Amino acid sequence: MKVRLLPSAFSRSVPGSDVPPAQPLTTFIVHGTGGAGPLAIDAGSLGLVGEPVDMARVREVILTHAHIDHIATLPMWIEALLSQDRAPVAVHGTQDTIEQLRKHFFNGVIFPDFEQLAEKDGRQLMEYRLVPEDRAFGLAGFSLEAIRAEHPIETHGYFVDDGVTEVLFASDSGPSERLWQACEGRERLKAVFLETSFPDFMEDIAESAGHLTPGLLAEELKRAPEQVQVFITHMKPAYRDGITRSIQALNDPRVHLVIPGQELEI
Ligand SMILES: [Zn+2]
Ligand SMILES: [Zn+2]
Repeated sequence: MKVRLLPSAFSRSVPGSDVPPAQPLTTFIVHGTGGAGPLAIDAGSLGLVGEPVDMARVREVILTHAHIDHIATLPMWIEALLSQDRAPVAVHGTQDTIEQLRKHFFNGVIFPDFEQLAEKDGRQLMEYRLVPEDRAFGLAGFSLEAIRAEHPIETHGYFVDDGVTEVLFASDSGPSERLWQACEGRERLKAVFLETSFPDFMEDIAESAGHLTPGLLAEELKRAPEQVQVFITHMKPAYRDGITRSIQALNDPRVHLVIPGQELEI
């Protein structure tokens, strides 16, 4: 499986430094062994990258939750696909996320309600597709399974399985017993993408906002299956230097910081 975190800022690594470039928005692009994908997980930076024809290569998008850093450029991606005659563009998410999009985003104020608009031939511009929360489902050639995260609004991570390799994209979440229980018995599970949003001195904020710090991450790693690699994203740009140092100090060979734009072979 190949995974790429789409860049979303002009920021660069400081020369000679291992602190990743700033990454305020979240979109993963996943290609599976055997031709599955490309599948986009979240749409923070999905509409920022490439020409419309490039963006239209992404077959499907699924959302973890409706926070703006995960949906910000969804309208631009949809417009790119519409320009390639791809109506209706499907947007996948759980019930709660779809309701948030209807009410707060594609509501005719923040952006036109694409669900209610149609091409000349009657095709809807966009349609929401509800994903189940209690069983596996197929999408873009993968088998997916939702897992509820610990976050102030309803949020789901997704297990993504291409039949050879399974990866968990946990999304924004504070410490979660449920998540590690769900990892048990998955023999193909090779990697987990976790967030670490705040530095240790902001642990109070992290806990109330449903995020991790390096210290909270260390506790999570004790429960992570031995065989999985742990990839870290979602560092608040202003604090990424301190977060990087603290994560390196954990000295856990399973843990890697994700560089935006870099393709990871898992
Ligand atoms: Zn969030
Ligand atoms: Zn977020």
